[in-house]
Amino acid sequence: MSNCIFCSIVNKQIPSKSVYEDDKFLAFLDIAPGSKGHVLIVPKIHAENLLDLPDEYASSILPLAKKIAAGMKKVLSFTDFNIIQNNGPLAGQSVNHYHMHIIPRYDGSEVNLWTPHENDPSVTDELASKIREQIG
Ligand code: AMP
Ligand code: ZN
Repeated sequence: MSNCIFCSIVNKQIPSKSVYEDDKFLAFLDIAPGSKGHVLIVPKIHAENLLDLPDEYASSILPLAKKIAAGMKKVLSFTDFNIIQNNGPLAGQSVNHYHMHIIPRYDGSEVNLWTPHENDPSVTDELASKIREQIG
């Protein structure tokens, strides 16, 4: 896609601090990291979000995230990290080319990713079963 920044990075029209590349994926340092070493993994095809991503990519990105996180840990000596993947603007997606975040967590440094919620009465068997029926 011509006006997609991550397609431009994949095509090397825009530079990136690449940490990994294979036939399906490119991984590079986030330009505005949540913490030191924050990496993004992007497919080399344009897919807007998870529902748009072909299964052959979806099924190989998590093993790849493990491999990349293991390499990152050796360099940055963190133990804890978040894997985050936002789908759509309400979910915080700002670049409409699927990407997975790997965000190292360091003792004493806050990254505001998730605010704990209260228990909620909307958590019902009925809701669970409606969703289960649709998944099949
Ligand atoms: P999201 O909010 O999940 O869509 O994440 C988009 C991420 O892309 C943000 O963390 C940005 O900092 C990052 N980003 C945007 N442009 C670039 C770029 N040119 N190089 C590296 N990271 C980028
Ligand atoms: Zn794209």
